[in-house]
Amino acid sequence: MPWKLKQRQQQWLSEERGTVRKSWGGKTRVALAFPNRYAVGMSNLGFQSVYRDLNRMDDVVCERVFYPEPEDLETVRRNPGCLISVESQRSIQDFHLLFFSIPFENDYVHVVEMLSMAGIPPRVQDRGQIFPLAAAGGVAVFLNPEPLSAFLDFFFIGEAEALLPDFLHVWNRIQGESPSRDELLQCLARDVRGIYVPSFYRAGYADDGTLSSMEPLPGLDVPERVEYRRADLSGVEPCRTAVLTPNTEFSDVHLLEIGRGCGRGCRFCAAGYVYRPVRFHDAVKLLEVSTPLLSKSRRLGLVSAAVSDHPEISGLCDALLDRGGVVSFSSLRADNIPPQMLAAIEASQQHAVAIAPEAGSERLRRVINKNLSMDQIISAVERLTERGILQLKLYFMIGLPEETSEDLEAIVDMTKQIKHHVLKITRGRKRLGTITLSIHSFVPKAFTPFQWVGFAGIRELRERSRWIQKALKKVPNVRVHFDLPKWAYIQALLSRGDRRAGLFIEKTALEGVSWSQALRDVPFNPDFWVMRHRGRDERFPWEVIDHGVKREYLWEEYQRALSGRTTSRCRPEEHCTRCGVCALQR
Ligand code: SF4
Repeated sequence: MPWKLKQRQQQWLSEERGTVRKSWGGKTRVALAFPNRYAVGMSNLGFQSVYRDLNRMDDVVCERVFYPEPEDLETVRRNPGCLISVESQRSIQDFHLLFFSIPFENDYVHVVEMLSMAGIPPRVQDRGQIFPLAAAGGVAVFLNPEPLSAFLDFFFIGEAEALLPDFLHVWNRIQGESPSRDELLQCLARDVRGIYVPSFYRAGYADDGTLSSMEPLPGLDVPERVEYRRADLSGVEPCRTAVLTPNTEFSDVHLLEIGRGCGRGCRFCAAGYVYRPVRFHDAVKLLEVSTPLLSKSRRLGLVSAAVSDHPEISGLCDALLDRGGVVSFSSLRADNIPPQMLAAIEASQQHAVAIAPEAGSERLRRVINKNLSMDQIISAVERLTERGILQLKLYFMIGLPEETSEDLEAIVDMTKQIKHHVLKITRGRKRLGTITLSIHSFVPKAFTPFQWVGFAGIRELRERSRWIQKALKKVPNVRVHFDLPKWAYIQALLSRGDRRAGLFIEKTALEGVSWSQALRDVPFNPDFWVMRHRGRDERFPWEVIDHGVKREYLWEEYQRALSGRTTSRCRPEEHCTRCGVCALQR
């Protein structure tokens, strides 16, 4: 095993608080892999929660594995089989199960690379009985697992709290029978709702290349569509940081999930659809679990898609401040910042805050159902600035459906107006406010009303970003950051592709060629998946999963978007049946 790799991992361990070390005797051994570097994985609340949940089970030992650091990459690539776990520094092949937690599509290449680095044949069909079963969960694969289907034995479709106990129950039940790999997978696919074994399904294609069918193989007792599993948050502990480390963006901050999902219905947001219905942890439970956290670190980051929508957020902020907590928030909604949240931000001496108008014009915000008025945005900016928060970050997207040059002009106008208000308030003070625009390329995602829409295109997005850059170049105190449209294009390919898109991943991961080369070499035109507007009735590869949101509802939302009509927020308490998800909970 490369000595430097071991030494680096030992250094991480020595600086961590909360690491779990368990003996291996008689336990199911799970290697929990994050397909990116240690610092990225350890900032991910989902990854941390699964580590905690698995290790709380007496009959399981779970250890972490990360994509190698840049300095170690060549060594690990040259020595297949030398990818090791952090805790015991054992080879991945010593584990029974290898679980990937995948929040971002652009890390799919790392998944295939890590299989190869672990000495596991990357393609499922080449794996024999001796290798660990390789599986994946996480929001990227809940949305569309198909591009990874050749490389993983199965997928967890749903939330870990709902799925893991059922999975382990069935796993333990069949271990005594010494099943073959295939028997094991058949059992899991049949008996655990939410387990998807892609090799048990056959995809058919029409002459024009679109998907014509996706059916279980004859004779197999597996569902036609795999049900997404939701957790009942009233019955589980809130997700929170398990291991603190100084080597992450959130060093010494305990992240605490206060709710899941979002009831606002922004039409571009996959999380807003996949995690429906919006659910919250109650404040009593949140305070209970935060007490031991505060004894280790006073800094607490409250996490949710819309933190201020938590019905008890004001009381929660007060109570945490009373207990000596220093509280920060994952996001702020410009139309809902209660005074207690402002007080918490001020008390934590947080000088930077982000708000997300997403689009410059009110018309385009109606299209995407981001129901924010200019007055609400300006009022939020003024309240934040008055409290001494002088670094404002504004999130926007470009390439949205129905976007015109006037919408880009509106981003520039809004920025100038915000700057004007910030400078008016900070004039005469030692420090003036600064505004940073973070502008992302819109990627249409599965299971959203924009799943029928094509990606705007690299050249087009570059032109739009250059235009904004130029328009704001001479405006003082304003910085503009863009993501790279070429990476958004890859993300669109991996979000919207079917099984054949796996060829691009394989080429890049195993032959070491660049993405541009892979896009040229693979005998399929990637624009077919990325750029194409889909017809109303086209079958989508991701529909092998059933999220419970009705297709007709998504189509209707898309039509409402095209005509600029907004949709009111979720009201599950009013027995709403609009999208279909709440009916599944009753
Ligand atoms: S059924 Fe209604 S309240 Fe429930 S998630 Fe769907 S739209 Fe929201």
